[in-house]
Amino acid sequence: MSKLTTMYEFLKKQDEEVFQAIEGEEKRQAEGLELIPSENYVSRAVKEAMASSLTNKYSEGYPGKRYYGGQEFTDQVERLAQDRAKKLFGAAFANVQPLGGANANIGAYFGLLEPGDTVLGMDLSHGGHLTHGHPVTYISKIFNFVRYGMKDVATGEIDYDALAETAKREKPKVVLGGFSAYPRELDWKKISDIAHSVGAVAMADVAHIAGLIAGGSQKNPFDYGFDVMTTTTHKTLRGPRGGMILVRDSEEIAKKIDKAIFPGLQGGPHMHQIAAKAVAFGEAFRPSFKDYAKQVVENAAAMAEVFQEHGVRMITGGTSNHLILADVFGSLGIPGGEAEKLLDEAGITLNKNAIADDTRKPMDPSGIRFGTPAITTRGFTEEDCREVTRLMLKVLKTKDASAARTKIKALAEKHPIPESFA
Ligand SMILES: *Cc1c(COP(=O)(O)O)cnc(C)c1O
Repeated sequence: MSKLTTMYEFLKKQDEEVFQAIEGEEKRQAEGLELIPSENYVSRAVKEAMASSLTNKYSEGYPGKRYYGGQEFTDQVERLAQDRAKKLFGAAFANVQPLGGANANIGAYFGLLEPGDTVLGMDLSHGGHLTHGHPVTYISKIFNFVRYGMKDVATGEIDYDALAETAKREKPKVVLGGFSAYPRELDWKKISDIAHSVGAVAMADVAHIAGLIAGGSQKNPFDYGFDVMTTTTHKTLRGPRGGMILVRDSEEIAKKIDKAIFPGLQGGPHMHQIAAKAVAFGEAFRPSFKDYAKQVVENAAAMAEVFQEHGVRMITGGTSNHLILADVFGSLGIPGGEAEKLLDEAGITLNKNAIADDTRKPMDPSGIRFGTPAITTRGFTEEDCREVTRLMLKVLKTKDASAARTKIKALAEKHPIPESFA
């Protein structure tokens, strides 16, 4: 019996259709190269916690204050997750119940704001996230979102003067630092100082870089005066799909945020996911996770180098974190959507992405966004990453996916997805 069959023994017998879909996805993940910078591979231990009987339990409320009985072990597991999260990020308070990154942000907004209040966040076309007030979200109808962005797209420097002026003029209650398509580090100190100078809460959304912060390869906003931090747990942090809100030291803020998440927004917490979060946080304390976080950044730099050598324009000129945003339309004449499709055919998964001041439509933008969190989990070195980048360029320049498919498959075989990160 294959490993997959033993792992899904009952499912395979009972529901062949669902089993087949899962089997197909496992094969796709093993054979291709995952360059979507928000994705990763979790350990078998994280998967086992997710598949546990904790999914059967209703635990509305918080440890020690539940609406239902039978909470001996759910309290234990949620406290473990909270304590580890606090230690990992240097926070006094942690809410580990948000079902995802979007829920964490919405919970934080409702905890910190009244309807109609203003949030000053990063321009979406300069790297901000949908949940930072994109007009298609309902949250944008409840709060008033205003924007800051880059001063110079070539270097990625944020226009901190404009940020300060907008803060003075708009009097936001929250100044938000965070992004999902920005390849540089923010000056956390400047942003938190500006927030506090107008009496706003400084909130960081570190959904993408939480694992890099935990592993010490990116700065921790809490060290620069930030008050609140939201994150996903499944991106660089390499845990189960979910979210989390951390509060540096204000008990008053923490209480409001707890109330906003439950009963304000969510019902029963997904305790199996919370157990898996605890397991992932446990893994993030290991020295090997520090090495991982460092390698993620070094691998991204190696990929950027190859693009640089070939004259491909990268937004901000390169990368200081785990992701790269490249103007493939401007540099190679291929729209982002076509690049995504060609690379997919070659066995590389990434996404098309709008670039700052994009001249093309959002559904068919100029750029592609890719990164190294998942391939680094597979053990890719800088040399492997240079090879991947050269293969990407070959596909994009020749518009022929077959030119690279065999080599990409060989790279995937050379680095199988690991089951543990001890
Ligand atoms: C991914 C992301 C989110 C949303 O997380 P989900 O788990 O998909 O809801 C929020 N903020 C940022 C900056 C992100 O990158």
